[in-house]
Amino acid sequence: MDKTELNRAIELDQNDQLKGFRSKFKIPSNLIYLDGNSLGMMPNDMNNYIKNVTDHEWGDRLIRSWNEGWYIRPKEVASKIAKIIGAQDDEVIVCDSTSINLYKLAYSALKYQKGRKTIISDELNFPSDIYIFQGLIESTFKNHELKLVKSNDNITITEQNISDVLDEETALVSFSHVAFKSSYMYDMKRITELVHNKGALVLWDLSHSAGAIPLNLNDSNVDLAIGCTYKYLNGGPGSPAFLYVRKDLQKEMQSPIWGWFGAKNPFDFDLDFIENNDIKKFMTGTPSILSLSAVNQSIKILLEAGIGNVREKSIDQTEYLISLINKNLLNIGFSLGSPVDSNKRGSHISIQHDEAYRICKALIDPEVGNYTIIPDFREPNNIRIGIAPLYNTFEEIFELVNQLQLIVNNEMFNNYSKNKESVT
Ligand SMILES: *Cc1c(COP(=O)(O)O)cnc(C)c1O
Repeated sequence: MDKTELNRAIELDQNDQLKGFRSKFKIPSNLIYLDGNSLGMMPNDMNNYIKNVTDHEWGDRLIRSWNEGWYIRPKEVASKIAKIIGAQDDEVIVCDSTSINLYKLAYSALKYQKGRKTIISDELNFPSDIYIFQGLIESTFKNHELKLVKSNDNITITEQNISDVLDEETALVSFSHVAFKSSYMYDMKRITELVHNKGALVLWDLSHSAGAIPLNLNDSNVDLAIGCTYKYLNGGPGSPAFLYVRKDLQKEMQSPIWGWFGAKNPFDFDLDFIENNDIKKFMTGTPSILSLSAVNQSIKILLEAGIGNVREKSIDQTEYLISLINKNLLNIGFSLGSPVDSNKRGSHISIQHDEAYRICKALIDPEVGNYTIIPDFREPNNIRIGIAPLYNTFEEIFELVNQLQLIVNNEMFNNYSKNKESVT
């Protein structure tokens, strides 16, 4: 690739106002990590922080730690997340996994929306979300129907296609704010309004936007939301998820899982469940303190950087990547699988190629070149390039495109097996 392109990347890195944040993460040598949208990198100070939680809080203080910080930690982390998603502290709680939180909130919404019989999602949504709706219908809401809004191009969803299925029968509309494959980003405020006009509730999955996109759930008048903390929030594998319920809806919403952490006074050990009257009613059981503590620490970096700055850099970096794709990859069999307009996409870019799977393998386990490059593969032919502005550089993006060119021009992917591993 053109040397001037490399110089441009280096210059963009020099002028990057967030460049100091990269050193806050553990960056393995010779690794270019472009998968922060799937599992965020580990902050450098994580070992020490967790060591204190294990040595001191668990090791020394043992059960006393519940009253010395553990019991309120889900709220402590929630209030940090509230700042990132534009919600009030008492509208967010951290607990369970994203899938479980979706189940709880979708159940609550369907129960609340008596008489309305359809759930709307879209065919670009993350399969786990769709499975949760299918399971809810199978187990509990037998007369409900799931409708998936079609995508005309497998990249975007048009407002027209939503309007075509949305009607007075609709109970709940649930989309991923940013689609996991194509990175298509909905206009949250606009779609929420559209849904409200038909009297339905909206539930946004923020897994691919929390920590990457400035959100304002309050301003968008969002009813319900869920999201993940191990992607752009860097909380570590399987760290607990969050959920949001608009304040004025909380009273009428009821969790389907009545665990003691959702009860008003868990330590009364009352044999009859009395529901908590705030957002904590959506908790179930004992929180995973180690993982929860990790999020508490990692999210500080993001708050320090400022979500607006993160988004600004993300747009610059995805634009830079797209410009390199246009110049260097479209002519060798790649196509762009994400929206061109930055207002309509999140912080990852998908590119498509018939040999996507083996090209991915060649990036991860290279025969030539200085770097191991980790994006991920998504069926059937997508290479997903996640850009996490807290640690990714423009030069890394240059190196990725350079290596993709090398692999395809020399057909190096032929040296790799087509067998898929269990996690791709
Ligand atoms: C990552 C992701 C999830 C993850 O769900 P888990 O319960 O944590 O496995 C759910 N939904 C979407 C849209 C995601 O991107």
